[in-house]
Amino acid sequence: MSRFIFITGGVVSSLGKGLASASLAALLQARGYKVRLRKLDPYLNVDPGTMSPYQHGEVYVTDDGAETDLDLGHYERFSGVPARKSDNVTTGQIYMDVLTRERRGDYLGATIQVVPHVTDAIKTFVRSDLTDEDFVLCEIGGTVGDIESLPFLEAIRQLGNELGRERALFIHVTLVPYIAAAGEQKTKPTQHSVKELQSVGIQPDILLCRAEREIPVDQRRKIGLFCNIRPEAVIQALDVASIYDVPLSYSAQGFDGEVCRHFNLPDMEEKPNLARWEEISRIVHQPEGTVRIAVVGKYTSLLDSYKSLAEALAHGGISNNVKVELDWIDSEIFEREDAVSYLEDVHGILVPGGFGERGAEGKISAVTFAREHNVPYFGICFGMQMAVIESARNLAGIKGAGSTEFGPCDEPVVGLLTEWVRGNVKETRDADDDLGGTMRLGAYDCTLAPETQVREIYGADDISERHRHRYEVNINYMDRLEQSGLRFSGMSPNGELPEIVELPTHPWFVGVQFHPELKSKPFDPHPLFTSFIGAAVEQSRLV
Ligand code: GLN
Repeated sequence: MSRFIFITGGVVSSLGKGLASASLAALLQARGYKVRLRKLDPYLNVDPGTMSPYQHGEVYVTDDGAETDLDLGHYERFSGVPARKSDNVTTGQIYMDVLTRERRGDYLGATIQVVPHVTDAIKTFVRSDLTDEDFVLCEIGGTVGDIESLPFLEAIRQLGNELGRERALFIHVTLVPYIAAAGEQKTKPTQHSVKELQSVGIQPDILLCRAEREIPVDQRRKIGLFCNIRPEAVIQALDVASIYDVPLSYSAQGFDGEVCRHFNLPDMEEKPNLARWEEISRIVHQPEGTVRIAVVGKYTSLLDSYKSLAEALAHGGISNNVKVELDWIDSEIFEREDAVSYLEDVHGILVPGGFGERGAEGKISAVTFAREHNVPYFGICFGMQMAVIESARNLAGIKGAGSTEFGPCDEPVVGLLTEWVRGNVKETRDADDDLGGTMRLGAYDCTLAPETQVREIYGADDISERHRHRYEVNINYMDRLEQSGLRFSGMSPNGELPEIVELPTHPWFVGVQFHPELKSKPFDPHPLFTSFIGAAVEQSRLV
């Protein structure tokens, strides 16, 4: 029977609750346990799919086609367990479910209330779709004290009672700030945050205290005393240089040991096997060189918008024993200024996923630069579409080439995706459809053509990758583009949707319609990122 670990946050947001949850999962795995990670998000959107990247950062897509919170990316990168639709729920989804049932008459005339109907729906979600997991880690989004998160806190409080201490654990992540003027660390915000949690009936079992500096033992004892927690269960979580040091650091502070102790597990005195994390940490801290990659995008002012991408590039560095430095460049710059001064020193150029016309011409200029100067180029989703438009205009001579995403266009080399097959089911869309949840989402198979670069990189004929797009490369232009040198090296199994293009005459020029960054892990870097960074290492020897 699964044990449940509930992780809440207090004092301020951005304390790294997601990373803490992901790291704890990795530590439990390192002790041989099977884990699952879930996120409960207190906002009213049904999912983050329709939210601006500036508001919410990246939308993480699962194999089964859910658009989810970016913390699920951390979960998957640290645990290797593929996230599913059933691993992220929002208040919006819970209410949609409750109200649909109310309209259907399922409540048999009852008055629908937050307690018990909404809280029951949350509890059902938390316990749904599980098999033989030893631990289910549930992170509650937001900060304790927010109005929005109250139903979630009430639901996990009830679950704590129903499951009993032997099957439920509450972890609270807080901040112990250092106040320079006083020259000391302050425990009061943590005390207040725990009080807040206690006022809704939850007594945390473990406190994970984020801090810039060591929290002296007597301070930890004080926190324990005021918060009704054993002092050993007040764990200091110090800032570390790389996120991949987090499991090592938290374990050294006894985090996973305390969790095992709470559940009275036989291995509580033993150390987990952290060889995997030690090796990653060693490479991250002692790289043999550095490569610079320009990421030419639109949401560069909020780097959380490209979370998985930045991590996947770092993983490509790990597999090549190099550090990857990223130059985030707002593509609109290239609409005013020449790309040369920005791009001449970089060892690789990447245009990531994106939406809308703004900055698109700048991205196309970056592609032209990469193609003409033989700089490794990696186009992801929108970045692939821009690469195809660039080839259409400048190699195939189709001057009016564009995407219908930007309005009507004479030569729609990229057009609205209106029909595709998922499993045995045909999906159809038109321009007036809702925006939420209607893209081509999730894992789809792709067949790689023989004797192509990607066939070599993957070492397989058939692959599966995650998608999130509404537009596609128009297959009617395929012949003309191939004649001018662009190779369509990956297609959907029915041969109808272009999935990968490459330029055989270029050292490394690949565009993919999917998002390979979503599946990359530090201990299992994605082959495309390994190969791209490898090409950048070659390029660094030339520049
Ligand atoms: N805007 C493009 C589309 O919808 C690309 C999407 C993306 O890059 N994720 O097809």
